[in-house]
Amino acid sequence: MSMIYKSTRDDSVKVTASQAILKGLAPDGGLFVPESIPELDKSLEELSAMDYKGVAYEVMKLMLDDFTEEELKHCVNSAYDSKFDTDEIAPLVKADGAYYLELFHGKTIAFKDMALSILPHLLITSAKKNNVKNDIVILTATSGDTGKAALAGFADVKGTKIIVFYPKNGVSPIQEKQMITQKGDNTYVVGIHGNFDDAQTGVKNIFSDKALEKEMDAAGFQFSSANSINIGRLCPQIVYYVYAYTRLLANGEIKKGEKINVVVPTGNFGNILAAFYAKNMGLPINKLICASNENKVLFDFFKTGEYDRNREFVLTTSPSMDILVSSNLERLIYMIAGNSADKNAQLMNQLKTAGKYTITDDMREKLSDFYGNFASEEEDAATIKKLYEDTGYVIDTHTAVAAAVYDKYKSETKDDTKTVIASTASPFKFTRSVLNAIDKKYDSMGDFELVDELSRLSNVAVPAAIEEIRTAPVLHNTVCDADKMCDTVKKILGI
Ligand SMILES: *Cc1c(COP(=O)(O)O)cnc(C)c1O
Repeated sequence: MSMIYKSTRDDSVKVTASQAILKGLAPDGGLFVPESIPELDKSLEELSAMDYKGVAYEVMKLMLDDFTEEELKHCVNSAYDSKFDTDEIAPLVKADGAYYLELFHGKTIAFKDMALSILPHLLITSAKKNNVKNDIVILTATSGDTGKAALAGFADVKGTKIIVFYPKNGVSPIQEKQMITQKGDNTYVVGIHGNFDDAQTGVKNIFSDKALEKEMDAAGFQFSSANSINIGRLCPQIVYYVYAYTRLLANGEIKKGEKINVVVPTGNFGNILAAFYAKNMGLPINKLICASNENKVLFDFFKTGEYDRNREFVLTTSPSMDILVSSNLERLIYMIAGNSADKNAQLMNQLKTAGKYTITDDMREKLSDFYGNFASEEEDAATIKKLYEDTGYVIDTHTAVAAAVYDKYKSETKDDTKTVIASTASPFKFTRSVLNAIDKKYDSMGDFELVDELSRLSNVAVPAAIEEIRTAPVLHNTVCDADKMCDTVKKILGI
């Protein structure tokens, strides 16, 4: 009997892992969650002796249990290969007493590659397993990094098309250039007049449009999502927390059973939720430290128990975290509501109608694994500068949010538990903001001049992902209003 995935909003919706991957979102708008989170069935010592692929297989087989060993190993081997610029896939770098887990060694130099390099393979395999004949249309809203990572993952994958919506003025110039130069006959990139939440809402509305679903089916298409709500994104993200722990163990940095803290720069709550799942699978994690930028909805939520999206949307130098509705939080809400779809659905309905909800005291008690805080723009920049000046190590603006929050956590709690900081993007992806943080004099330089300067200063070679776009031609120039996203999709598909 395979594991059952249920919708967070309706108990009667039950699917297998591969069906959950295919669907992305449940028909009622809920997210798929495993009926219970499985426990690791290999010891952490055994996992310490394996490479990234080995750990990936051992962790993911538990969550995606309707995949055969051969199928899952094929997916893992196709994903974590020379697309990454290091065999370690996700190396740990010690700086200033913390361990930075570098999740940016994939094709687009941001952590979304960790999941999006395997998702196309999980999806194609899931389609085969479920006798799906339609072409799969991936529809994604991006605050910058997901879009490029998804485009790179799906480009020219047979039986798929990918359409990416991004906020026209809400991503960095390098992020935009990366997306609009994407090759592949099956790739489509659309800028919208609006912010990331508008893009995400638009995509959610398209997904729940039943009439459109019928039209699509008649034309031989069906939607799936590459957004971080897909469990095919979530599961691969659990892997690197287990991997990081086992490297610390293998290198004698921690002792058997010793707990670690994990700090995650958070936007949609996907990455930190994966760490929470890892903890629930048996990984010895003490605190899950949720770091927000000035869009500090989550900080307020952890402090007060009220989630309130009614506030000004701030554009920051960590744009991939500029999010007011953290979709993956719903999976946590569901769990702390005692796996109650009814309670969760009520709260999500309040979020939809009033833009806010408040959890009960009982539910708040179950959040003791988490610590939330935020970093202002000034604190973010100061953290980059100080770490560089003290150690020579240069981190990006998102990772700096985590590092700044970790500093606050340490001075508040005096907790000296060994700590892993999720390093979610290469500084080369946000070169201008990073160098500006180090010295204002860089502001007058051009984008690619800055890239060379950063390489010199950090003693790190310019990543291939950046070299490629220096000269790449722009291949996508569609722009539309947020309320015209559905029409744009139809036009692209010719329906
Ligand atoms: C997406 C992203 C985040 C936020 O991750 P979530 O899973 O959405 O919380 C943080 N940093 C970078 C660089 C990202 O691309």
